Amino acid sequence: MENYEVIIIGAGASGIMCALNVKSKTLLVEASDRIGKKILATGNGKCNLTNNQLSVASYNTPLVEKYFSQFNQNQTLKYFENLGIFTYADQSGRRYPFSNSANTVLDLLLKKLNAKDNVKVVVNSMPMTIKRFNDGFLVTTKTQTYFGHKLVLATGGNSGTQYLNQLKIAYQPFRPSLVGLRTTKNKGLAGVRVSNVKVTMNQFSEVGEILFKEDGISGIVIFNLSAYLARNQISTGKISLDLLTEIEREQLFTMLQTSIQNNPQYLLVDILEGFLHKSLAKNILEKLSLDKTLAEDCTLNNMINLVENIKNYVVTFTGYADNQQVHTGGVDLKDLDDNLQHKQVKNLYCCGELVNVDGVCGGYNLQWAWSSGKIVGDCL
Ligand SMILES: Cc1cc2nc3c(=O)[nH]c(=O)nc-3n(C[C@H](O)[C@H](O)[C@H](O)COP(=O)(O)OP(=O)(O)OC[C@H]3O[C@@H](n4cnc5c(N)ncnc54)[C@H](O)[C@@H]3O)c2cc1C
Repeated sequence: MENYEVIIIGAGASGIMCALNVKSKTLLVEASDRIGKKILATGNGKCNLTNNQLSVASYNTPLVEKYFSQFNQNQTLKYFENLGIFTYADQSGRRYPFSNSANTVLDLLLKKLNAKDNVKVVVNSMPMTIKRFNDGFLVTTKTQTYFGHKLVLATGGNSGTQYLNQLKIAYQPFRPSLVGLRTTKNKGLAGVRVSNVKVTMNQFSEVGEILFKEDGISGIVIFNLSAYLARNQISTGKISLDLLTEIEREQLFTMLQTSIQNNPQYLLVDILEGFLHKSLAKNILEKLSLDKTLAEDCTLNNMINLVENIKNYVVTFTGYADNQQVHTGGVDLKDLDDNLQHKQVKNLYCCGELVNVDGVCGGYNLQWAWSSGKIVGDCL
């Protein structure tokens, strides 16, 4: 049996950050063949590593404030600069490395980690059981048993549930978040992108670009809606899309009326094409059985329906797509102390997505991974 002061399970963003900052003899255990793999996929391969406008409102719980007051986005940027990673911000405050490559972030994190002689890394290794033993933990993989005086769970969302169950730790069920949504068929709309759409469902309302798929919708605003739905445990319902946020209903009605009067021999699809992507125009007209109607035959009622379908285009949400960016759920912050140590299970620390903290799109989730990993690492 090998003995360590600290064992970290999971070498993703939070586990690596934790390992970079521990001072004790530490074992970092990673299930896959390479550490930090997910970082490479972040921000479409560019790694949106934080956001200038870090705000508690971007997360599912205000309790994150206490942790960001220990290590926030500015401290993260400084930390990365010290590693040689320099960044720029886009208009929304999203920070990316100047290289626009997530490889840079992972390469330089690993360079620093490899230089630490108190941290041993094992890959292709997945604990089968974790048990409490003499105030510490026995971690058993297929080939080895390790003893760790302190244990850090940094397995990301969902994958850590087996250990939480083995250690009898309460957690909120994991649900996919920041993910596209499945919908009923969007006839003829696969691949159509519409910008400046106001997406509304219950208390959620946000403007952004959406991408229609054959039976789903995607885009950052939809990812953010998925976070709202996941947190509120909603799995079906109607989503309202305002496809022309720039124009009020009355004004749109007048503009349509004018276009119809000016072009009575047009088909209605030609009229609507002046306002919308042609595929959307066709889709709406087919729904209203007006696809073969001439402008001059458009009644007042038809016009009211057209305006309604543009300003309140309803999509039926039927579930979550695969490939979520994060999970909502996990160990509640109220069960963890200021150092993210479990209040009931001494010497057990949780960080990253395994904690019930999830943010909207824009670098907020990696920021939580960096902050939580740093806080835990600093105290071990
Ligand atoms: C495609 C994609 C794009 C994203 N883009 C962004 C972005 O641009 N900005 C942003 O802020 N967030 C982004 N995210 C979210 C962000 O990547 C996560 O919030 C963050 O990686 C969470 O860090 P973590 O350390 O908690 O978990 P992870 O990064 O998931 O790391 C967990 C690690 O633990 C390992 N592991 C799991 N189970 C075990 C086990 N049983 N034993 C040993 N090891 C185990 C995993 O292999 C993994 O290496 C994106 C996510 C995805 C999927």
